[in-house]
Amino acid sequence: MTDKNFSAASLAAQAMGWIDPVTRAVVPPIHMASTYLRDEDNGYSSGRIYARADNPTFDQAEATLAALEGGPKALVFSSGMSAATACFLALTPGDHVVVPKVMYWSLRNWLATFATHWGLKVEFIDADRTDAIAAAVRPGATKLVWIETPANPTWSVTDIAAAADIAHRAGALLGVDSTVATPVLTRPIEFGADIVMHSATKYLNGHSDIIAGALVGARDDDHWAKLRTIRAQLGTILGQTEAWLLMRGMRTLFPRVDWACRSAQSLAERLAAHPMVSEVLYPGLPSFAGHAVSRKQMAGGFGGMLSVRIKGGERAAIATAARVALWKRATSLGGVESLIEHRASIEGPGTPCPPDLLRLSVGVEDGGDLFDDLDQALKRAHNA
Ligand SMILES: *Cc1c(COP(=O)(O)O)cnc(C)c1O
Repeated sequence: MTDKNFSAASLAAQAMGWIDPVTRAVVPPIHMASTYLRDEDNGYSSGRIYARADNPTFDQAEATLAALEGGPKALVFSSGMSAATACFLALTPGDHVVVPKVMYWSLRNWLATFATHWGLKVEFIDADRTDAIAAAVRPGATKLVWIETPANPTWSVTDIAAAADIAHRAGALLGVDSTVATPVLTRPIEFGADIVMHSATKYLNGHSDIIAGALVGARDDDHWAKLRTIRAQLGTILGQTEAWLLMRGMRTLFPRVDWACRSAQSLAERLAAHPMVSEVLYPGLPSFAGHAVSRKQMAGGFGGMLSVRIKGGERAAIATAARVALWKRATSLGGVESLIEHRASIEGPGTPCPPDLLRLSVGVEDGGDLFDDLDQALKRAHNA
């Protein structure tokens, strides 16, 4: 299908148009085998030896994601965390890395603890400021600049092209956690990123029924081979059933993200005018600090994630989350069901997340229902 110039949405819907050559099935089988037969001449003509390295069930998901992101190769991992940490484990103790202060909390914790103890020199910066990235990189010593945009849970935005330029001039790679933007809205490789990372648990799968991660490389080079080796050695491969579910979910990525973007934009605008809301954080609002950069690097919408700061502080925020009926009180994001979360509670002490903030992951329910449910919860919490 790729040679015919079909759009990314068409490639995703048909999972690259793959048809089983033997049965003509339009959906691939799940390969359960943990090992592959060696040839009589002692070779492995199938290219596969043992399933800790790879599995044919990965092929379609990896090929589809690579096509959507515009890179030559993709690797699926057992989780977003194992995909992200592989990028840091591919470095050498003593290397300097520049990472955001505002980012996915579990990766931030790992960088501050394990990665630091292991010997990486981890520098946390305000990645929404290009001058802060430029001031932090040390030419020759910095090996990786890591950004997340829009970034959990305030959706602060980093200029990908500017970050890539700064990283490359210092001799470093740029890694982008693009979980929230998805390849529907942003293709970081086009802006100069070297590695794109996804928590495929979120939008790529979209149905809150697997934990998965993925990397897409801008080049199929020695560094990419190293990432593949780390996955095989640590065994952070995706289960075969999860790989199949990931591909099944990715077929509807475009309509799900498109719908979520529209609802999120409308919710952001309506909530910004709500008397019980002090601030709405959403890249699609012209008043938002990262709006101009988002317009440059997001196409077709500003994503399905927003946060609201509630008048009355932490207690009012928790009381609001307690009173929703349609929204589900749960962590995670990017699924078909809308989730609401008092984010500071889960991030714990030391979080940069404001205590009055509720994080909203907009799903594919009716947007009007979602607003009405939040509106009644805000009013009842206020009057309680
Ligand atoms: C969830 C998430 C991760 C971690 O992914 P897991 O699949 O939970 O390991 C990393 N980055 C972002 C932005 C996420 O939302």
